Formats: sequence, structure tokens, C-alpha cells
Amino acid sequence: MQHIAPLAKLIEQFRRLPGIGPKTAVRLAYHVLAMEKHQAQKFAEAILEAKDKIGYCSVCFNLTDCNPCGICSSTERDASLICVVEEPKDIMAMERTREYKGYYHVLHGSLSPLDGVGPDDLRLKELLVRVREGGVLEVIMATNPDVEGEATAMYVARLLKPLGIKVTRIGHGLPVGGELEYADEVTLSKALENRREM
Ligand SMILES: [Zn+2]
Repeated sequence: MQHIAPLAKLIEQFRRLPGIGPKTAVRLAYHVLAMEKHQAQKFAEAILEAKDKIGYCSVCFNLTDCNPCGICSSTERDASLICVVEEPKDIMAMERTREYKGYYHVLHGSLSPLDGVGPDDLRLKELLVRVREGGVLEVIMATNPDVEGEATAMYVARLLKPLGIKVTRIGHGLPVGGELEYADEVTLSKALENRREM
């Protein structure tokens, strides 16, 4: 049986979301239909408002509703440290440790030749510019402990070392193949504390 057109359209939109299979998409669409009209309105408005008000920080490329972001605008942080992560959500993970007091740089992905992701697809040029501006003594590579994350860390280390920058890698104790955002605070703190020079 085919869904009536507006419902089919809604299901199709849910299917575009990561981790949503066909059955879940149908369930969510029916759930939205069962909502009170004002609830559905709030839901739709929240999506549009987030899209309108949130953009990328022009310095670190974190998600922000002001530019530069709150972290980059802070003068309380250690300007000699930049922690490089793959995604904005990884900053949240690092901040949860309450151990790290430097600044960040979000690459927006990791090198993955098989998926066609090369150096030009990441925010690497912008990282180089920041490092060349001076004041940075150490770049901490906090990319995911998987094949792509390791390859990215090595690539960045090769790029930055000739500039006389110390490049370190977190990793000790992080489950191999895992993702930073799922690491608990204690494990991530330890991984940060036990970072090794690359
Ligand atoms: Zn920023």
C-alpha cells in the first residue's frame, strides 16, 4: 500500500537522517502526525532557527551562533595549544574532561582516500594559517582512534613539524576503532594526559 503523498514526503525526509531506516522513518512520521499542531510547529521552527542562527566559527570552524565562537573569543585559554578534532561534537567531548584549556580546530572530517576525502576537503589550510601566525607551541591531534583518524594525525604532523611545532597524539587507553565522542571523561582525560609526541 502506498502512503498518501504528504505522508510519503515526510517519511522521505526522515529517511535522509543518519541512522534512520525505513521502519523508523515511518514510525517518526506517524508520530509527527499525531502531534498537536503547535508542537509540530515548534519542531519545524526549531529546525529552521538552528539552520538560520548557527554557522561555523571563522577561526576554529566549531558550530556557533556568534563569530568568533565562545571558545575562540575567550582570553582565559592557553594560546600555545591547539587541539585538532574531526567534528564539532568532539569539542564537546574534550570540554567534558575539564582538563583541556587550549583552543581548538575542527577539520570537518578525516582523510579517507576510499571515500574520496583528500587534504583539500578538510580545514587544513586554515590550520596552517593559524599556526603560522605564531604563538602556537603544540598541536594536539585528537582525531578518532581509527584508520582514517591515525592517517590524518600523521599527515598533519608531517605538515606542521617543519614549522618547528610540537605535534602530539592522544590515544593511550582509547578503544581502537572507536570514536572520541563516545569516550568517557576519565578515559579521554587519561588519553590527553598521556599524549605522545609524533
Ligand atoms: Zn571558534
